Amino acid sequence: MNLFKGLFSSTSPSKECPRCLGKGHVDWDDIKRLKQELKWKPGSCAYCNGTGKVHPGIEENVPVDTSYLVTNLPEGERKRILAGNPEALERGRSYEDRFDVFIDQVKFLHLIGKLTPAQIAEFYMIDERNPESYETKKQELEEYFEKVIKLKVTRDQME
Ligand SMILES: [Zn+2]
Repeated sequence: MNLFKGLFSSTSPSKECPRCLGKGHVDWDDIKRLKQELKWKPGSCAYCNGTGKVHPGIEENVPVDTSYLVTNLPEGERKRILAGNPEALERGRSYEDRFDVFIDQVKFLHLIGKLTPAQIAEFYMIDERNPESYETKKQELEEYFEKVIKLKVTRDQME
């Protein structure tokens, strides 16, 4: 018998999912509300597995804004996180730490290095040797770095 099914066998999910507010998918409004603009894209909700309902008490296991918990996480890891497995939660914290370091690097390249989003994209594309996908990837990165700078640098300077 599946361990995680066993854990929850006495109750069925009955609470409205606090991440997607019961829709089963997260949209930009949810992403903004949970301050994950740089980490998530709209899509199926990993917190309720697209059902819109969760088990009461799930938020004690794992906070709703856990960045690491997204649908492209392998299914086993997703279940470990939702069950509050300490090692999986630690992997999630480590992921968030590395992500914050990455964002700090981008801020540094922009503020101290005076690089534009396009130049920062080129910097991270240095190992990209596939000419077929180079321009598309660079464009995506450039748009992403524009968002990082808008959200992190501009906002920090105003505070
Ligand atoms: Zn949900």
